[in-house]
Formats: sequence, structure tokens, C-alpha cells
Amino acid sequence: MSDSARRQQADLIVVGCGAGGLATATQFLQSSPGGRVIVLERTGEGQRGGNTAWTGAFFRLEPDGSPAADFTERMHSLSEGKTESAIIDRLAGAAQSAVQWLAQNGVATKTDHTYFLTSQGPRLMPEGGGAAIVERLAVRVLELGGEIRYNTTAQLLERDERGAVTAVVAEDGTRYEAPTVVLACGGFEGSPDLLDRHLGENGHELTPIAPGGRSNRGEGITMGTAVGAATDGQFERFHGEPVDARTSAPEALVMVYPFGILVDHRGRRFLDEGSDTPDNTFESVAYHIWRDADQFAYVIADQRLMRQNIARAVLTDRAPESADTIAQLAERLGIDAQALVSTVEQYNKAAEPGPLDVTRLDGVATKGLEPPKSNWARPLDEPPYVAWPVRCAITFTFGGLKTNEDAEVIDRLGVPIPGLYAVGEVAGIYHHKYPGATSVLRALVFGRIAGEAAASRASYTTSTS
Ligand SMILES: Cc1cc2nc3c(=O)[nH]c(=O)nc-3n(C[C@H](O)[C@H](O)[C@H](O)COP(=O)(O)OP(=O)(O)OC[C@H]3O[C@@H](n4cnc5c(N)ncnc54)[C@H](O)[C@@H]3O)c2cc1C
Repeated sequence: MSDSARRQQADLIVVGCGAGGLATATQFLQSSPGGRVIVLERTGEGQRGGNTAWTGAFFRLEPDGSPAADFTERMHSLSEGKTESAIIDRLAGAAQSAVQWLAQNGVATKTDHTYFLTSQGPRLMPEGGGAAIVERLAVRVLELGGEIRYNTTAQLLERDERGAVTAVVAEDGTRYEAPTVVLACGGFEGSPDLLDRHLGENGHELTPIAPGGRSNRGEGITMGTAVGAATDGQFERFHGEPVDARTSAPEALVMVYPFGILVDHRGRRFLDEGSDTPDNTFESVAYHIWRDADQFAYVIADQRLMRQNIARAVLTDRAPESADTIAQLAERLGIDAQALVSTVEQYNKAAEPGPLDVTRLDGVATKGLEPPKSNWARPLDEPPYVAWPVRCAITFTFGGLKTNEDAEVIDRLGVPIPGLYAVGEVAGIYHHKYPGATSVLRALVFGRIAGEAAASRASYTTSTS
């Protein structure tokens, strides 16, 4: 390769072609017409878009794009005050204009119901889901004169003597030079080694919920920390979801555990299945399946559940296992029949007969059972009985680079690293529990902020050179 081919110059280099990277590049080109941007993407065009390409992309927003009433409060409380207020406020404040901007760029939004049967207001989402964001914004980048380099994996950042980031070096040795670099290359859910390092020795048992997550292998975090970035977000926590253990189909969700019981491979219950509405419990239920149940648990239910319309809460491509008695069901599942029969008998004694209402927190709780079941504690006594084997799949990791509300990457002294920005999963903002339906939104909002910043940096560089 000639020297010029090994050195590419632009006003902005973006690493990653998901919601964060494409929002950055599109916004940059709109704020700086004629500006030069190169997006580096590890995969070929057919696999591009990481997690964004596989999500329905619910937004925690009202139909008009304004933040849901609980948006700010939930972001504070679920992180136990650890997500910075300035970041939350910026995200909430810019959400509506991000949705309007998406529409201007060809991605309309609609309201739809989520996977949760217990009635929650519908959420906003793009028509065509995250895949539409990737398709449409990639077209916009090209229409506006940007470039996307596929099969190009970023590996290193370079800095000048003042500490400013000046280039990205790809796996093949090519240097992509620019006054601004935006990292948008996801978390580390696709790296078994990093999962083990940060989550403990069973980390590698968590496989990504959809193929897109396999591309996110933590290089953005490694590259950033190597040039002095501080980290933020909780590295040992992640967003996970309960999925059918029998299939490798993407997002094979089983969200009906509150309406039956959840047992481990010894046939014993290990948590309160009905402690809250499923949108508030599915992440921690999935986490406990991984941490406390050796990645193998079973949702057991009966015809009280099967009479409901469960289609939007059970996305697996496999029918549940079914049997006329609990003992036969246990045999079918390969778990100790006596143990499961005894668990169900104890549960039934503590439960309250009556109809099952999945549409609301019904307050029907077990009496004298440990662990308790705090809602939907109806007996399992209407055969045939059904079961879904479930495991925890990882959606994305929480730990990442420390950023501020302007998407600038912060160094270990608390100062922005000149020329370096991080958006989407690579920026660590979540702690403890994920406030659902905020991750695509933060990628879009902070992507646009970084794109605007890159545009003003490009015009400054041009005017002073
Ligand atoms: C099934 C599923 C459902 C979800 N549901 C929701 C939801 O309803 N609402 C919500 O808000 N969020 C949801 N999420 C999470 C959300 O989709 C992601 O967190 C978000 O889209 C991440 O965007 P991103 O731009 O940070 O990263 P990604 O979209 O993952 O894009 C990262 C890109 O970087 C590329 N890349 C990685 N490393 C390199 C490298 N070294 N060099 C070059 N390129 C690289 C990848 O190939 C990829 O194209 C869901 C995720 C999944 C998988």
C-alpha cells in the first residue's frame, strides 16, 4: 500500500455505524455542508449497525416526542443518583428535537405497545425499528457527501504533543487523521474476555441477545483509556433480558414469568417473580438467572396464563413444553420431578384462588412463602401445564468512557481530551438498573451533539489555517 493510501484525512472520523455513529456523521454534514467525514465500520455493509440494527428501538417518550413524565426521575433513581444530572437534563431536553430530526431525515415514529402485558402506556418507536435508523441515516451520510468504510476495524488513537487526539489507526495500519474523532463503537457485550474481566468468571456465559452485539468488543473503551480517558458507568452490571434457552433466534423474549413461577434447574423458586410490573423487573430477573441459577431456569405456568393474549410478551420461535401433570412436565424438562411437584404444592398453598389479571399489578400475594410472590399469586392448577426454559442474554454493557453533557471524553484529571468524543454505548452512563427505552435515544441525542461540535471544530480549523 502506498503512503497516501495508508494516510487518510478528513474533518471528522467516526468509529461505528450504529445510531450513535450515523447520527454524528449526518448531523456533522448538515451543520458543515461540504465537510469531510469518514465512518469506519468493522463489518461489511450487510452486518452493519451493531445493536441498533436489531432493536425495535422504543423511546421513553410521549407521542409528541417529549420525555415521558417519569423520564428524569427514573434516570436518577435507577442509577441511585450516579448518572450525572447534566447528562440526564441534556438528554431529556434534546429528545424531542432528535425525534423531529429523525423524521426530517426519513424515519417517522409511531406509538406501539411494548413486550409487557401489564398495562403501560404505549411507547414511541421508529417505523421499521432500529434497522430503519441504520438504513436511512447511512443513505443520508452518502447523499450528503460522507464516506463509510466497511470492513475497517479501528484499533488505536493517536495524540499530538498537546494531548489532542489527531488520528485513528485501523487494524490494517491505515491512519485516519482528523481534528475530531467520535467513538460510537458500542460496549463490550461481544467480548467474552472483557465480560469475564469485568463481570467475573461467568461473564462469558452471557451471549448477545442479537447478532449485532457480537461486533461490539470494547475497542472504543480500550482506545479511549489508552489515551488517558476516565471511565464511568458500572462495569460489572449490564442490561440483560430473559430469553428462551432452546433457540438461537434473536430476541427470543419470554416476559411472562410474573404470571407463573420461575424455578432453577433444581426445581426451586429463587426470587419474587411479581415484585413489580415486568418492565421494572425483567432486567434484574435476567441478571439473577445468570448469577444465581447457573444460567438455567424455567418459567412454569398453566392455562390461566395460556388463555391470555401473550403473543407480544413471548417472542421465541419455540412453543412451550407442555404436560398434563407437573411431574410429567419436570421429566420433560429434565429436572427432579419430586422437587418441582413439592415447589408447586407449596406455592399453591400460599397462593390465592381466583382469576388472573395480567393487565395490572393486582396485589394478589402469597402468604407465608419464601421467597414471596407479591402479585399475580394465583395457584397453578389448570392443566395442561406449560414451561419455557430461560437464560439471560446480554443486550449491552454499562461500563464505558466518561463523558460530559457535550459528549466530550473526560480524562482522569476531569478535563475534556481535545478532539475526542464518545456517544452511545461506548460512553458509560448507566449504573445499577437501566431506565428502559433510553439507549437508542442517547446514541441519537449525543451523536447529534458530537456532530455539531465536530462541525464547529472543522470551521475553526479551516478559518485558522
Ligand atoms: C434486541 C435488542 C433490543 C433493544 N431494545 C431497545 C429499545 O427498545 N430501546 C432502546 O433504547 N435500546 C434498545 N436496545 C439497545 C440499543 O439498541 C443499543 O444500546 C443502541 O442501539 C446502541 O447504539 P450505538 O450506536 O452505541 O451502538 P451500535 O448500534 O451497537 O453500533 C456500534 C457499531 O460499531 C461497530 N464497531 C464496533 N467496534 C468497532 C471497531 N473497533 N471499529 C469499527 N467499527 C466498530 C459495530 O460493528 C456497530 O456497527 C436494544 C438492543 C437489542 C440488541
